[in-house]
Amino acid sequence: ILSEIIELDKLKIVSAIAASISHEVRNPLTVTQGFLQFLREPNIPEDKRLQFIDLSIEELQRASLIINDYLSFAKPTLGRIEKLDVYSEITYVINVLTPFAMINNVDIKLIGTEGIYVLGERQKFHQCLINIMKNGIEAMTSGGVLTILQEGIGNQSIIKIRDNGIGMSSEQIEKLGSPYVSTKNSGTGLGTMVTYRIVKEMSGLIGVKSVLNQGTEFTITLKIVR
Ligand code: ADP
Ligand code: MG
Repeated sequence: ILSEIIELDKLKIVSAIAASISHEVRNPLTVTQGFLQFLREPNIPEDKRLQFIDLSIEELQRASLIINDYLSFAKPTLGRIEKLDVYSEITYVINVLTPFAMINNVDIKLIGTEGIYVLGERQKFHQCLINIMKNGIEAMTSGGVLTILQEGIGNQSIIKIRDNGIGMSSEQIEKLGSPYVSTKNSGTGLGTMVTYRIVKEMSGLIGVKSVLNQGTEFTITLKIVR
């Protein structure tokens, strides 16, 4: 019975995420479809034509931002739970994010060791880390260092992701994990929701410490498997 309950809970998480994606991606797609149909009409004034094309591009960019916050790796996830080496997976994600960090004048520093394992779906674990690291990089508006500390303490794998960016007020911290809350111009407000759900699905904990104009530190705690 216990395993059934856990399975149901997981299904709920998956379907909630899926419902959110389709809702958020469908809107820009519907709008773009409408514009394209309109553009088939002959004799559309040139300024209207350009306006519809620009709006379509914007809408498609929005759809792709949303998909990026959910699934940066567009590979289908197999739903396979594996034993993951935390240090190696963080290294993989750092490599993926390095170009983005460079554009933002951010160096990524990792301190940790191999040989600490947790259970989870690789793709989702990557997504969870990417969303937090991306926020950290985006928070350092004039560049800086994103520091990742990874260690094993007792039977707990601890990952700390620290930035020296703009920080958050306590009101902002309270809203973390709720969908569609963003302080950014082109933010989706979906990244932390996805991260929180994935950590929950891995039976882990996530905490945050933040000081306005000084920086933020997220801590993910997961159970070590031998
Ligand atoms: P988005 O990045 O699209 O805005 P997220 O769900 O990833 O959506 O983040 C929600 C909000 O949480 C951000 O808009 C920002 O206000 C705040 N936030 C998250 N991480 C950080 C951070 N490291 N530093 C400052 N603010 C953050
Ligand atoms: Mg984000």
